[in-house]
Amino acid sequence: MEVSRPETALGADSGQKDGSSSSPHNLFVKWSGKEFEIEDINGLETVRDLKQLLQSKTGVHVDRQKLLNLTYEGKLAQDDCVLAKMSLKVGQKLMMMGSLEKDIESVNIPPEERPNVNNDLDVPDDCELPVESQEVYMKKIERRVKEYKISVINPSRPGKKLLVLDIDYTLFDHRTTAETPGELMRPFLHEFLTASYEHYDIAIWSATSMKWIHEKMRLLGVSSNPQYKIAFHVDFMAMISIHMPKYGVVNVKPLGVIWGQFPQYSAKNTIMIDDLRRNFLMNPQSGLRIRPFKSAHTNRHSDTELLRVGGYLRKIAKLDDFSNLNHKKWETYERKSNSSKRRRSQSSSGTDSSNSKR
Ligand SMILES: [Mg+2]
Repeated sequence: MEVSRPETALGADSGQKDGSSSSPHNLFVKWSGKEFEIEDINGLETVRDLKQLLQSKTGVHVDRQKLLNLTYEGKLAQDDCVLAKMSLKVGQKLMMMGSLEKDIESVNIPPEERPNVNNDLDVPDDCELPVESQEVYMKKIERRVKEYKISVINPSRPGKKLLVLDIDYTLFDHRTTAETPGELMRPFLHEFLTASYEHYDIAIWSATSMKWIHEKMRLLGVSSNPQYKIAFHVDFMAMISIHMPKYGVVNVKPLGVIWGQFPQYSAKNTIMIDDLRRNFLMNPQSGLRIRPFKSAHTNRHSDTELLRVGGYLRKIAKLDDFSNLNHKKWETYERKSNSSKRRRSQSSSGTDSSNSKR
């Protein structure tokens, strides 16, 4: 493994393809949740050469690979593009999309018969932490509160509630092949974030490393959108592992790490949205499990989940305390609160039964 080098731009004229006198020029490629380092691209001539090397590392066939943020003159770089002509930086991060042949064949197998990928393992609705180990987990959280550094991007705003969002399958289909990140973005993402920003500080928490969170947010246009600002990013280092007798060791996102560092947020004003229920095992009452956004090409014309969850967030934003809510029933809350509004307007005597936990 090489030591990290400063991020210097190798411009169009600085490429020395013989590799004899140039210093090594590395790249990082993220694919399917894994990171691969290309230690030196100086010996490679074209994008196709790079893809061939990636095929040897990942098993994804050259023709199936899409390097999402590898562009040349503003467009997705074609296979015959010469690497030395592209302004690739040392240590640059590329996102690769593409499926293995065996996975393409397995598309015809019903999901319930496919082998479980541990990363996607979820727990059932009624799953609870073993009580006897709670103390151990609280200790782990305390340690994270002391030692973990949350990446603050914009200051928290007084009086706002907190919305914590997962990325993969919640905001973005990270496993489908596409030409542009926009094709994989969950529909209405920017509308959802813009509307939520009015009442909530927004945090992103993803089970990957900080550099990939920054990169994904950049690719989706979240970090540059003028309509809202992200308060902070939290990465996999803030997660803790817990042992579930039935499922083995799973990694979860304990909100206590955030609450310990930002005392203005608590179970009373925080909601976490994730496609995996297990991520909020340490604070199940604060979690809303969203349907995963997968198969983007099929679903991106019909998925309205963010619009609907956004409506729920807007409604509950009026409450002083979230700790009586049951987010499992968020869809009913929408309907009940609409019908009770209708009742009120008809008789002016209705009461909002909504979805309190009782
Ligand atoms: Mg996810």
